[in-house]
Amino acid sequence: MKINNSAMKKSDHRIVLLGKPGSGKGTQAALLAKALDLPHLSSGEILRTEIRDGTRFGRAVEEYVLKGEIGPEELITTAILGYLERSGFGGGYILDGFPRTIFQAKALAGAFSPDRAILLSVPDRIIIDRISRRLTCTGCGAVIGPGKEPGSAEPCCEACGGTLARRPDDHPDAVAKRLDIFNDQVGPFIEFYRDNGLLSEIDGTGPASEIHSEALRSLERD
Ligand code: AMP
Repeated sequence: MKINNSAMKKSDHRIVLLGKPGSGKGTQAALLAKALDLPHLSSGEILRTEIRDGTRFGRAVEEYVLKGEIGPEELITTAILGYLERSGFGGGYILDGFPRTIFQAKALAGAFSPDRAILLSVPDRIIIDRISRRLTCTGCGAVIGPGKEPGSAEPCCEACGGTLARRPDDHPDAVAKRLDIFNDQVGPFIEFYRDNGLLSEIDGTGPASEIHSEALRSLERD
């Protein structure tokens, strides 16, 4: 799991990244973490690591993650807040994939309240195209986006040499379900951050570098 947790931070922002599956949260979270020297934590990656490691928590959430569903709220919230606490995230963080529900947003507000929520807006048809073309390393979880697939017949991860494959929840049926869940259940909770005046909505359809610049600009605004 990628946790960049440097002692010398350029910023103490506490940022949550919101958006549909495939909206680029992971990419933008990694770029912001590097630019601002903040630790980055991805709830999806935590869950996939726990599943890969066969932990009790991993076994409890596996069926939900494979189907692209939101699993047991309290269990997941306690686990992610525990990660935050152990990683010393009180001095600033970038969170990607958490919170996903109003329950989680309220729990986070009570523990490590964010000061910014950045929503990456991308239409469903672009999401479906992006996800159908992305590969993920089964070893380290690295994501290989469209246009960056290695040419070999048995593609390997450049970082760890692991096998690249499509995530089970990136198959079309699971993607459709994840988008439905986002549009029905996750989308509305974003109002929580709008109402609190923390939300910046940015267009997530352009090149990653432009979206990153826009995200940085959004942090400068009040
Ligand atoms: P992601 O990598 O963010 O697309 O997450 C992959 C899957 O992990 C989701 O479809 C959910 O099944 C699960 N997941 C990730 N984050 C959360 C969360 N905050 N609450 C519940 N389930 C989550």
